[in-house]
Amino acid sequence: MPESVAIVGAGVAGAAAAIRLAERGVEVDLYEAVPEPKPIGAGLLLQPTGQRVLAAMGLLNEALALGTRVDRLFGDTPTGRTVLDMSYRRFQADACGLGIQRGALMGLLWARVRALGIRWHCGAAVEGFSQDATGVTLQFAGGASARHAALVLANGSFSRLREGVRVAQHARPFPWGAVWTVLPAPAGFPQIELRQRFRAASQMLGLMPVGRSSHDDPERGINLFWSLPVAELEGWQTRIGLDRLKQQMVHLFPDVAPLLAGLTEPAQLREARYADVWMQRWHDGRVLAIGDCAHGMSPQLGQGANMALIDAHELAADLGGDWSQVFARYTRRRRAHIRFYGQASKRLTPMFQSDAVVAPWLRDRFFGWGGRLPYIHQQSIATLAGYKTGWLWGRLKL
Ligand SMILES: Cc1cc2nc3c(=O)[nH]c(=O)nc-3n(C[C@H](O)[C@H](O)[C@H](O)COP(=O)(O)OP(=O)(O)OC[C@H]3O[C@@H](n4cnc5c(N)ncnc54)[C@H](O)[C@@H]3O)c2cc1C
Repeated sequence: MPESVAIVGAGVAGAAAAIRLAERGVEVDLYEAVPEPKPIGAGLLLQPTGQRVLAAMGLLNEALALGTRVDRLFGDTPTGRTVLDMSYRRFQADACGLGIQRGALMGLLWARVRALGIRWHCGAAVEGFSQDATGVTLQFAGGASARHAALVLANGSFSRLREGVRVAQHARPFPWGAVWTVLPAPAGFPQIELRQRFRAASQMLGLMPVGRSSHDDPERGINLFWSLPVAELEGWQTRIGLDRLKQQMVHLFPDVAPLLAGLTEPAQLREARYADVWMQRWHDGRVLAIGDCAHGMSPQLGQGANMALIDAHELAADLGGDWSQVFARYTRRRRAHIRFYGQASKRLTPMFQSDAVVAPWLRDRFFGWGGRLPYIHQQSIATLAGYKTGWLWGRLKL
């Protein structure tokens, strides 16, 4: 009988799940398609709920030392209408968001994977799997196979393996994406919290302090996010060009000009595409999907990496019985939280990234005003902090 659990994908979800399971004494094999994974990726806002998972792993202090605490999120329009003004401290005295480079977070998680002696197979692209009453067989590119007691799919929104999970599901590529980069804060650049500027839903620029990429990196960075329709992402370097893109950014938000001096090559801007992933449930016998593979969404709510950490934590929280029972209980515990954020992301994203006219018009008129009402502010920040499990009530217990 195979003993070890296979985890496919060494991103936030897979690495964190490997750590939490290994800490509970489970034998784990972690498979990653990339031969030499590099600590890269967009700046993330890690919510208080995800920070609690890092604290449970003993990694929060290091993450706080690398990243930057964010208290306030502020967004407005070129005409000065406030769209968002939220403060974690008004929600809970000691709460904050953590702006961190994905690479810095991955560096911490991968170091822990190695320290725990987890078997980590890089350059191992899993191409398919089958399961029976006693285990799961993985098939790799090149014809090799491996047998495991159970399988955790953590290979992102665009997973092809997810189709092998026999439950109703869909993955819809989102029509809008983004380009992003991390730039060093120039001397004299104002101390910023999370700052966004919107023109309708067709233009959006976001700035967020994200700290250092590693302990050896002396420079604290600022993450720059620029929304683009997927159709314009293809070949933007020649069709739009870096100079025109920078002009558009400055036209929307003139304060960004000094920061853009550090953006000199198109290659500095990385492209991001995302998909809305929905699954009726996340387990099928001895197979479970977690992270973006299970519930990919747009990054507007700042929840993806956060939810990946919560998934990992919950997976290892209750390990009694065989793996199909463990996974079925996981699905029951995670259902309300995952459903709420899937719905919230679907409803809110078109207000920030779309060609819509009415939705952003309403946003500009009512969001800033509503946010000044204590109840609405409390609900909005509870949503952002990752605590909500329902529209009217329900709070995640971690
Ligand atoms: C621009 C942008 C901004 C974001 N901002 C935030 C934010 O502020 N806050 C937040 O919480 N989240 C944010 N997110 C979302 C967050 O980055 C993702 O939700 C999170 O990284 C998902 O992690 P994951 O481990 O599920 O998947 P991934 O990070 O996609 O990892 C999947 C891994 O699986 C590997 N893999 C794929 N296929 C195979 C295979 N067949 N075999 C083996 N390995 C395979 C891949 O190489 C990869 O390493 C943002 C995302 C983007 C794009």
